[in-house]
Amino acid sequence: MSSRPHHRRLDDELAAAAAAYQASAVIPHCPQCSNSCCRLDPLVLELEWKQVRTFWQIDEARAAFDRRLAAGNGPQEIRAGNGLYYAHGKPCPAFDEACGSCRVYGQPIKPAGCSDFPVYEDGGSVVADLRCEAVGLEALKDWIAKAVGPGFRVSSSADENFPFMVTLTVKKSKPPKTRG
Ligand code: SF4
Ligand code: SF4
Repeated sequence: MSSRPHHRRLDDELAAAAAAYQASAVIPHCPQCSNSCCRLDPLVLELEWKQVRTFWQIDEARAAFDRRLAAGNGPQEIRAGNGLYYAHGKPCPAFDEACGSCRVYGQPIKPAGCSDFPVYEDGGSVVADLRCEAVGLEALKDWIAKAVGPGFRVSSSADENFPFMVTLTVKKSKPPKTRG
């Protein structure tokens, strides 16, 4: 019998716990963040064409925009690649600096990566980007441990090359050894 449904359930629990942590600990801090991720420095924002067109208020067809971009005459903060666009080095046009908030919050046009940052479920683990000042690693571990219950153990490991990227792994606790 496959254990896939159990995995699926744990994945879903972790995704829900990550989203709840963001709602509780991260999003309330965003308006007073000292280094907003929406300034896109050092973060890179991955965008689809419809997002580029909307955020940068582009009227021309995509092919014309791509030609302009390739010729170095497009927005300097955008690079194209793999059918997508990557913005970096200037604040996102949807960022409201005065309020420290996103003008497209809760709207379908908001890029998926924005909702995932800085804590998200990925392949049965939780990934946290500690470049967000609102993330507390120990608090997050406690949060995940509470969400999955006492039958599981939560451990963390930092990426070798990007130590601010931490993966929280959830494993079943071993039952205590009995004598006899
Ligand atoms: S870095 Fe974190 S706290 Fe700051 S704006 Fe981004 S998500 Fe919010
Ligand atoms: S779309 Fe909104 S959340 Fe995403 S980078 Fe721009 S302002 Fe920030």
